[in-house]
Amino acid sequence: MTGTRTKMGHNKYTGDLRDVTQYKAGNVEINIAKHSGYCWGVDRAYEQTVATAKTKDGPVYTFGPLIHNPQTIDLLHKQYGVDYIEDVNDTRAGEGSTVIIRTHGVKPEVQEKFKERGAEVIDATCPYVRVTQNYAQLLHKQKYHVVIIGDPKHPEVISILAYAKGEGTVIKGMYDIDHIPKNKRRLGVVVQSTLILKKVNEIVNALLARAQEVRVFNTICYVTTERQEDAETIAKQNDHVIVIGGKASSNTKKLALVAEGFGAKAQLIEKPEDIDFKKLKEAKRIGVLAGASTPNWLIDQARDVLIEHFSAVAVS
Ligand code: SF4
Repeated sequence: MTGTRTKMGHNKYTGDLRDVTQYKAGNVEINIAKHSGYCWGVDRAYEQTVATAKTKDGPVYTFGPLIHNPQTIDLLHKQYGVDYIEDVNDTRAGEGSTVIIRTHGVKPEVQEKFKERGAEVIDATCPYVRVTQNYAQLLHKQKYHVVIIGDPKHPEVISILAYAKGEGTVIKGMYDIDHIPKNKRRLGVVVQSTLILKKVNEIVNALLARAQEVRVFNTICYVTTERQEDAETIAKQNDHVIVIGGKASSNTKKLALVAEGFGAKAQLIEKPEDIDFKKLKEAKRIGVLAGASTPNWLIDQARDVLIEHFSAVAVS
C-alpha cells in the first residue's frame, strides 16, 4: 500500500466535528466514514457464534444467514464449520445441535420448535430489535392496532409482527396506509431499525390524519442514524461514493440511497473486485461508506485496492 494516511479533524462542509480517515493515492483522496463496518449488535452476534462454534462438540447452525453479508457467512462456514438452515423443520437441528438466532430475531414459536426437538437455542437477536419486539407485544396487549413501518419481507419485520400475534399492518410506503382496517382508530406504531427518519415522519403524519390516537415508538437504531448522517457528510464532501455491503443488507442499500439523495455518484459493492474503475476515471475525492454488517477486513481490502489503483495511475 503506497498511500499516505492523514486524519481530517473537521468537516468543512457542515461544521460538524465528524472525523473521517483520509488517504491520499496519486491525485485522489479517499475518505472513509467514521461509522463504518460492524455495528455493536452484529459484532455481538458474530462473537457469540464464533465462541459457540469453538466450544460445542455438536453441529452449530444459524437460523437463516446470521447477518446480511455473504463474505461473513462464507467465513463462518469455512473457518468455524457453522452452516445456516432456513427451514424450522430441518431435522439437522435436533438433539446435540445448537441453533443461533440471528440479529433480526425470529417468531417466538420458531425458538420453541427447535427446543422441542432437543436443540440448544442461543438467542443473538440484537437487543435493540428485542426492544421493538417488546413494544409491539405491549401495544397489542393494550389493544392498539399495531402498525410496523418497514419492509414486510424483511426478517426483522416478520419477527416484530409475530410479537403482535400477527395482528397488525406493515406499511412500506404511503400507498400501504389504506391496508389498515377502517375501524382501527387507535394505532400503535413501531419502526424497522434501518429506516430513514424523513420517510417515517411522512407516514406518521398521514396516520395522524386518519386515526383518533397514534402512539409512536421511534425504534430506528442510533447506528442507522449515525451512518445516514455520515452518508450525507461523505456525499457532500466527495464527488464519488463507494458503499460496501451485502446486496441484501437493508441498511447498506439505504446508505447508497442517502448518498445519491445528496447528489453523489454512488456505487454499491459487495467486495473490492466489484469496484467499477471506469466510473471513477474523473474522481478526485472518493468517499467510502460501509453498512452495519460489513466486516472491517472487507473495508480495508477495498481501501487497499483503491489506493493501489490510483497510485499506479499516478505513476503511469
Ligand atoms: S443496526 Fe442497530 S438494530 Fe441492527 S443489529 Fe446493529 S445495533 Fe442492532
